[in-house]
Amino acid sequence: MKTAFKTIFLLLTLLLSVSYGKSVELYLPFTYPGSLGKFEVDRPVKKLKVVLGYKGKRYVFKSVNGAKEVFFVIPYRVQKGIFSLSLYKNGRRMFFKLERVKPKHYRVSRIWVKTRPLKGELLKRVVRESRLLRRIFHQITPKKFKEEKLYPPLKNLSISTPFGARRIINGKKRSIHWGTDFRAKRGTPVHAALSGKVVLAKNLYFTGNTVIIDHGLGIHTLYAHLSKLTVKEGQFVKAGQVIGKVGSTGRSTGPHLHFGFYVEGERADPMIVMKERL
Ligand SMILES: [Zn+2]
Repeated sequence: MKTAFKTIFLLLTLLLSVSYGKSVELYLPFTYPGSLGKFEVDRPVKKLKVVLGYKGKRYVFKSVNGAKEVFFVIPYRVQKGIFSLSLYKNGRRMFFKLERVKPKHYRVSRIWVKTRPLKGELLKRVVRESRLLRRIFHQITPKKFKEEKLYPPLKNLSISTPFGARRIINGKKRSIHWGTDFRAKRGTPVHAALSGKVVLAKNLYFTGNTVIIDHGLGIHTLYAHLSKLTVKEGQFVKAGQVIGKVGSTGRSTGPHLHFGFYVEGERADPMIVMKERL
């Protein structure tokens, strides 16, 4: 009798671990703010959704119909303490875990730039461009890359301003640096970090000549302040392909590359993503 019970218990555990444990895999090597994470299931699913909970707020990341994986980012606002991670498969919660965020020190820098007051046509332009970026970053398309690692956007990566740096502009206005700035000479070739489709290749007020690539599954990379664009909107690029040249267009104090990594509009720390598997 006891053996029969044991066998049933064992079978049940095995069954449960097959339908829950083994069919869901969480990849989250770092838990700093701005870290990239991924859930993978064993077969294509109609709806896959990650909900990250922190201090009463929910951050939702979705996948496309028929995908096996869904990416998410630990938002920058998650600075201290515990956050929760839930995975929903076709509306049913399949996974729940509590994680502790690793605090990171962010430097504060003061910069002085000439600013024109944003009004009239200029204000209209800035509003129009921020809406356009929002729309682009929230586009979730099927996966367009096979690479498992980011290709460095520049041959030599030398950071001038890290992700998350707090900036005090002209002594008062505060802003957060949503990408990584790399030092480079004007004209240095800039490479696509992953394969994907160029969804924006034009001049924007703040970021100057800008390229945004859609890599699918809600992932986008952004390359800003370029002197020259060598790709067109709608074009497919391979990881490592040259997409433009370093410059100082837009709101910039000198030649450099501003590189951004986004998952459904949530900003990730490019230097952490570079250490991760995709
Ligand atoms: Zn920057």
